[in-house]
Amino acid sequence: MEKLYDPVCKMEITPEDAVASSHFNGDIYYFCSTECKEQFEEIPTKYKDHEAAAREGAAA
Ligand SMILES: [Zn+2]
Repeated sequence: MEKLYDPVCKMEITPEDAVASSHFNGDIYYFCSTECKEQFEEIPTKYKDHEAAAREGAAA
């Protein structure tokens, strides 16, 4: 089963639990609350960077 994380508060979340979701750069992000979604949509790159940094470490 796929494990997802709310990129804002880093809470583990499933699409079923998600209160809100957002598309960014072709990816879909799930959020535990509309507050987290709003924070993400305000500065998507701020939260995207954390994930990208983790991925780059493994890929590069
Ligand atoms: Zn959250």
